[in-house]
Amino acid sequence: MTQWRSLAERMVREQIMARGVRSEAVLEAMRTVPRHFFVDEALRDSAWIDSPLPIGEDQTISQPYMVARMTELLGPARGETVLEIGTGSGYQAAVLCALGAKVTSLERIAFLAYRARERLDGLGFDVRVVWSDGSPESRPDGPFDGVIVTAAAPELEEWWSDVLAPGGRLVVPLSVMSGGQRLLLRRKAAGGEYEDTWHDYCRFVPLLKGRKGNGSGG
Ligand code: SAH
Repeated sequence: MTQWRSLAERMVREQIMARGVRSEAVLEAMRTVPRHFFVDEALRDSAWIDSPLPIGEDQTISQPYMVARMTELLGPARGETVLEIGTGSGYQAAVLCALGAKVTSLERIAFLAYRARERLDGLGFDVRVVWSDGSPESRPDGPFDGVIVTAAAPELEEWWSDVLAPGGRLVVPLSVMSGGQRLLLRRKAAGGEYEDTWHDYCRFVPLLKGRKGNGSGG
């Protein structure tokens, strides 16, 4: 128990603070969420390393630094609503939940959605996990104070911006010409206009269309 705390502390210091994440709330959330429970038992010893890790179905749990950086850009305040697209392991959702956000998270692969839901419930993170690919028929209405896309998007989907509340933020890894992606932070001003800024280069698994599996988690 105490051992993972010191691994978490070290991860925060060496991987996250060292690369310039400053938000104390984000750093504290990264210290308190038990990342080792979001990977398979066989990978538990590797959970805190400076890398994404496989979670099955050809998907990955994101690198700790990337989770921290995207969370800092999103900047959720306690009680704000956040939509995540790409639940994966549920780790990013747990970090947002630890910051006091009300999180809804979409996952297109039934098995991952099911497993993330069980895991988050078991650890006491109150996250709504929905088996969905965010297609026109299934997208949530919003509004949301934050939208975070955790898979590589070839382009911006219009509805991500539409569901933002005034003052809301969208964070998404958008494909760039050089290959890979770059983090885009979009803020919606009170009057509805957008302010876009570009941040870290990164490499995520692709955002895909269509749901996979069946609703019972198979
Ligand atoms: N946030 C995750 C890591 C995400 S990996 C974590 O903390 O572990 C990206 C995830 O996005 C994968 O699980 C993938 O299945 C999912 N995904 C890809 N396209 C999607 C879509 N259109 N809608 C919902 N989820 C999607």
